Amino acid sequence: MAIKTASEADVVPTVKQSAPYTDPTPEPEKHRCKTRYEKRKEAAHEAEATHFSGGYWWCEQCAPQWQLLALGEERNYPHLIIPIHGFQVRSGRENWLRFVQEAGYTLVRAALESARSRDVQEL
Ligand SMILES: [Zn+2]
Repeated sequence: MAIKTASEADVVPTVKQSAPYTDPTPEPEKHRCKTRYEKRKEAAHEAEATHFSGGYWWCEQCAPQWQLLALGEERNYPHLIIPIHGFQVRSGRENWLRFVQEAGYTLVRAALESARSRDVQEL
């Protein structure tokens, strides 16, 4: 008969029950702002959206973005030139959407100004 020493028998491995990591379940009612990037900050734009416009959700900060898209919608997304910055947005909804998502506030505001002034000239 093997005799176990007390010290051996009493060693119980301590299992630390670490809770498995789970992502917090996203709440379906909350929406992310459609804007993706802020050029000035050179950072991703992460914001809770509060405003639904042009088929997408936007945060309060991103009014120029949806206003520009709304303007595009009205005019069937023409080729847009932003004279001050020497920047152009090619025609088509996809191009306009990408522009507002990635250009940053300064450019989007300039584009909005430019698009608005164009309707004075062209209509
Ligand atoms: Zn936003």
